[in-house]
Amino acid sequence: MKGRFIALMTDIPLEATNAMPCVNCGASSTMRAHLLPKAICQEVMVDKKIATGVTENDKKFFPSQSGTFDTDILCIKCDGTLGMVEGEAIETFREIRKKATAYADGALVDVERSAETMLRFCASILYKYSITKKEYGRISLGRYQEPMRRAAFGESDVPDFLNAALLRLRLNRTDESVFAYRAPKADREQGTGANMYRIFAGGVLLFVRVDQRAVGDSALKKLWLYGREKAVFSPFDARKFEEFKIPQRQIHEDEGLAKFLPD
Ligand SMILES: [Zn+2]
Repeated sequence: MKGRFIALMTDIPLEATNAMPCVNCGASSTMRAHLLPKAICQEVMVDKKIATGVTENDKKFFPSQSGTFDTDILCIKCDGTLGMVEGEAIETFREIRKKATAYADGALVDVERSAETMLRFCASILYKYSITKKEYGRISLGRYQEPMRRAAFGESDVPDFLNAALLRLRLNRTDESVFAYRAPKADREQGTGANMYRIFAGGVLLFVRVDQRAVGDSALKKLWLYGREKAVFSPFDARKFEEFKIPQRQIHEDEGLAKFLPD
């Protein structure tokens, strides 16, 4: 029996048991698709900090160890396609957290990572949130939904209505940790009123602009990724942002969440 073993290999994870058709390709069964990548949610847990999701009403942060997933939207193949871009984005977030430690707040920092990949990551997350259930924080992309889907799956160039700015939120200069994550939350660009979403993932706040109008003269102007080759970001003090303030307040007000937290 030397050197003999049996490898059990299968293309079908145990999770792939749902009989709903894939929203993207129509395949006959769907799997457990994470709306935000599981790795992003787990990074928060590693540091034993606050793990939070937020629903569409912006009031309710809730703790979750594996993040929110929807079993009724995507098949294995389509989830895997999005997972490739998401994996690259996760690596980029790690690099941003590390590199930020060498820079002061507000500095414009570039990373040797693709700007296009980060925009496709945004498309992936927004598309999934546009097809999920209301209780998971569904957003409405309207006429942008189909081009967003194509961008997410790499079926088109990144559309010119899609833009993103990356802000590394940290507690101090040497901080490389992640204190929370947040599902897409609708917002507006200062000045133009253009449609935006805030997504907090991997310790990086993404302002994702979904609007045909030209970008305004806002504080985010120097950070927009569309048209760039490499990604750029700026570090900022997390305490100035609602992504830190809301869960902090929640800890004090919500006994259930306080109990959940390790210390
Ligand atoms: Zn599919």
